[in-house]
Amino acid sequence: MSEVVAEGLVAALCGAGAIMAYGVRARSSTLFGPSVYHGSPARNAVALTFDDGPSESTPALLKILDEHQAQATFFQCGANVERLGEVARAVARGGHEIGNHTYSHRPLYLHSSGFIENEVTRAQESIVKIARVKPTLFRAPFGARWPGLASAQRKLGLLGVMWTVIGRDWKLSADAIVARVMRHICNGAIVCLHDGRKLQTKPEIGETLQAVGRLIPLLKARGYRLETVSQLLCPRN
Ligand SMILES: [Zn+2]
Repeated sequence: MSEVVAEGLVAALCGAGAIMAYGVRARSSTLFGPSVYHGSPARNAVALTFDDGPSESTPALLKILDEHQAQATFFQCGANVERLGEVARAVARGGHEIGNHTYSHRPLYLHSSGFIENEVTRAQESIVKIARVKPTLFRAPFGARWPGLASAQRKLGLLGVMWTVIGRDWKLSADAIVARVMRHICNGAIVCLHDGRKLQTKPEIGETLQAVGRLIPLLKARGYRLETVSQLLCPRN
């Protein structure tokens, strides 16, 4: 192999690798299925989203949202919904939106189309049966998509949702979460936080709870309406 050909091959491989990395992780990627990461920049509205629930800690979050009359979107795992059906139904009863976050929160990357379809379908069936709502939104575990996801989303009518800002609330203090979210907030922003930790029981989300209790008044003071993701994407007015 000549050096020129070898260099060309390396460049092509690097190019393919970069495209793959973009497709899997970039918030704006739609390579592996239709996906959004923000709403309209023309409206003063934002969406708080919470992943990995329902958990034993979710009711405390529902109480805070209720006190502030704020609606949010919860991307739930099917296995957690089966474990805590009453909490999943309480989320729906509170006027919040429920989205699909796979059944077991295992990463989709490097897995077959069959595995991906099973993870997404099983979660959808659990949420429909137990929470009694039919999700139209999907968020991939770790925000990582993979070939095979587009077909699963199409079959179930699911739109992928990434985020405008992620709170990194699994590791940051409440102060740092609030500062990070407020630094990046803008019209149409989708904010990613967590009311669970994958399939853990009794996850510690104290910093998230404190942060949310402070974020909502700050967002309202800036004139933002707090909407579900579907309301953010399809406003009625
Ligand atoms: Zn997650």
